[in-house]
Amino acid sequence: MANKKFVYLFGNNKTEGKNSMKDLLGGKGANLAEMANLGIPVPPGFTITTEVCVLYTKNNQYPPGVLDEVNRALQKLEKANNKQFGDPDNPLLLSVRSGAGVSMPGMMDTVLNLGLNDKTVTGLAKKTSNERFAYDSYRRFLTMFSDVVLGIPTENFEKLIEARKEELGVELDTELDTDSLKYLVEKFKSIIKDNTGEEFPQDPRKQLQMAIDAVFNSWNNQRAIKYRRLNNIPDNWGTAVNVQSMVYGNMGEKSGTGVAFTRDPATGEKCFFGEFLTNAQGEDVVAGIRTPQPIEALQDSMPEVYDELVDIYRKLENHFQDMQDIEFTIQEGTLYMLQTRTGKRTAKAALRIAVEMEKEGLIDKETAVSRIEASQIDKVLHPMIDPGAKLDVIATGLPASPGAAVGKVVFTAEDAEEKSKEGKQTILVRTETSPEDIGGMAASEGVLTVRGGMTSHAAVVARGMGKPCVAGCGGITIDIDKKEFTNGNVTVKEGDYVTIDGSTGEVILGEVKLISPELSDELDTILGWADNIRSINVRSNADTPQDAAVAREFGAEGIGLCRTEHMFFGEERIPVVREMIMAESSLERKQALEKLLPMQKEDFTGIFRAMEGYPVTIRLLDPPLHEFLPNHEELTEKLRELKSKGAKQSEIAEVNRLIGGVESLKEVNPMLGHRGCRLGITYPEVYEMQVKAIIEAACDLKKEGVEIVPEIMIPLVSHVNELKVIKETVKSAAQEVMDCNGSTIDYLVGTMIELPRAALTADRIAEEAEFFSFGTNDLTQTTFGFSRDDAGKFLPSYIENNILEQDPFAVLDQEGVGELVKIGIEKGRDTNSKLKIGICGEHGGEPASVKYGHNVGLNYVSCSPFRVPIARLAAAQAVIENKNK
Ligand code: PEP
Ligand code: MG
Repeated sequence: MANKKFVYLFGNNKTEGKNSMKDLLGGKGANLAEMANLGIPVPPGFTITTEVCVLYTKNNQYPPGVLDEVNRALQKLEKANNKQFGDPDNPLLLSVRSGAGVSMPGMMDTVLNLGLNDKTVTGLAKKTSNERFAYDSYRRFLTMFSDVVLGIPTENFEKLIEARKEELGVELDTELDTDSLKYLVEKFKSIIKDNTGEEFPQDPRKQLQMAIDAVFNSWNNQRAIKYRRLNNIPDNWGTAVNVQSMVYGNMGEKSGTGVAFTRDPATGEKCFFGEFLTNAQGEDVVAGIRTPQPIEALQDSMPEVYDELVDIYRKLENHFQDMQDIEFTIQEGTLYMLQTRTGKRTAKAALRIAVEMEKEGLIDKETAVSRIEASQIDKVLHPMIDPGAKLDVIATGLPASPGAAVGKVVFTAEDAEEKSKEGKQTILVRTETSPEDIGGMAASEGVLTVRGGMTSHAAVVARGMGKPCVAGCGGITIDIDKKEFTNGNVTVKEGDYVTIDGSTGEVILGEVKLISPELSDELDTILGWADNIRSINVRSNADTPQDAAVAREFGAEGIGLCRTEHMFFGEERIPVVREMIMAESSLERKQALEKLLPMQKEDFTGIFRAMEGYPVTIRLLDPPLHEFLPNHEELTEKLRELKSKGAKQSEIAEVNRLIGGVESLKEVNPMLGHRGCRLGITYPEVYEMQVKAIIEAACDLKKEGVEIVPEIMIPLVSHVNELKVIKETVKSAAQEVMDCNGSTIDYLVGTMIELPRAALTADRIAEEAEFFSFGTNDLTQTTFGFSRDDAGKFLPSYIENNILEQDPFAVLDQEGVGELVKIGIEKGRDTNSKLKIGICGEHGGEPASVKYGHNVGLNYVSCSPFRVPIARLAAAQAVIENKNK
């Protein structure tokens, strides 16, 4: 420990750090050192390492030797600047900034002009021949030091400034004269005394020590901790502290300050893009009091400085091989770089920059692919809220399906469909959705539900349709009779406009301006490169030929899940489905199923055609049957109406019969009840009909020469014997059709692994299954014991209280559910080493889960059509990340 180095110099005569030392020096410190190494002018300074932060926050004291090292570094800084820290005639002034490995809002940020006190301020005034400038710097320093080091809110100081301006009858800070600034300095010092009980520290060394302590302490403030949790930043990284000599952009017309990007951060265009202010300090640019000039204007006012800046920005971009966000200050004609970092950019810009940099030979394809964040793809595929729009957010729920939508509120699926026929845009607001609402969901612009989590019906279906959805918005209450919803004192009536943002979960009152998605060639290029890199396949969940076609356009290589229950709805079909459910004998049921068969066959034919040449996994019926019957309350209401208007006995009897059916199918826990393969065991004729429809469609298409690969999937299996029994039903129904057609279809029979017992006994199940597909929605539900429809009520507080880092229905819980997936894969492949295994739960389109899937050996992931591009990208990034490990 004794020989350990804790402080690294940069700039001027000596630079000890470099870019690759980000872990130790933080991003800011490492890049300052790197700029100095490149011969780019940076004001000299030093960086105290992140290791000091870790030890200091752990032991509550500095490791031995650190403070001596800081003192020695300070002496070198004095020498380099030819100024003394605390010298009343020619004072060295410093900036102190935090700088973690990644930029981290929430931590102490910056203190400027440190070293000023009642004496050095006069030295600064003399040295610059500008007393006003010196006192302006002093009052700014007092405010910043108070805010970030002493914890006294800035408003305390702002109030005094405002009062003084009012007294003088002026509007701008710049109009305050020297006497006013001197007066404010005195006042500010008394605020500090009143708040802390101590005088403002006049000793510059004490100021420096306090500022360094404050940076390190800010690593553990609540905001910083929260930010780390949200962004998966480990607590043991620590932050570095950068202490740097001040340079001034406010020393006259040959001084200035600015920020710039090496490419346009909004469009990605290759051009120098930035702005600057003459005779100003950095915070003036941020404060927006004066309007900065475009960077090109510098060419006229200070051509040599502009040329130098252009050389530097090109050098920086070439060196870092990425778009840079730079900050500079010009002090009396001399240019200094204060910062360079990877520039933030819009999704559109990210794609363009990555593709163009590859073409320019600056980066390779893998780097280009790894530069695009999966969440950015969502932004180019869906409409988004205009970032400049003012938002009246009235409630927040779960961000269940990305994109933003505007429409008039409706409360029933029928109303949504009706309004859509009139050409009106609606937002469908429901307590929760059920399969019956599908038509209305399709007809609306977006869906808002009070209940339900990230894998609730609304979320899954909306995602499949590529429609924005906010689910589990528990703050609102719907009054269906009054046709309104309320949240606190806000009431939204049917027909009122709302905007929902399915990417953030926000519900906004009124019509907000949206930005349309812009599909670009660059996205295709990046995804094409990703396809060449990735090793797992990406399929899509799709239930209709239309969805299948969209999925193909997005690059899906097959269907990983076709939920056949969605084919049971619609005006023509639902009465037949109800006939089937209400049948009093097996014969009656068969008759109803015979009517359904051609309809199902038509759907399968369409889907197979859209997916020609690719595998299509069709899941046999899964949901509990009551979901296909009308709601009990609605039926009772209808019965009352019929009776009161003296309807025919036969009509009344029919409703009574339906009520009887609903009551007999009622279950306490339908999600754990009579559903999935349990239906196939008790009503084998339903599965028989579905298999016949699949194989008939396949036989017809085969005759036409269309290549198809059906995979028949059995849901909710927990015991191998369930699969064994159903497989026999499937095989004999399929054989019957093939014999009839004189044809042979190569098809597979496999199962979903979506219950813990199935994962744990996957070796037995693999004896019967020809493929596995992990249903991680149900697997998450049953592993945690969290109902996927009710978890929205408590999961937000779990995340708030750091019990869980993320919603496990959105991001796969690798530790628990993921472990079951791993066990399932290992055991399954123990029995059949070639077993094809995929995932079709919602996690199949979530980047971290896709990467996990790649690492544990899945053959494919399957997700809703609009998430296919995300999965393609994430699957490639998994390969690249492993290679770079
Ligand atoms: C699952 O459970 O993960 C799954 C894909 O099936 P569903 O969401 O239809 O239950
Ligand atoms: Mg399931």
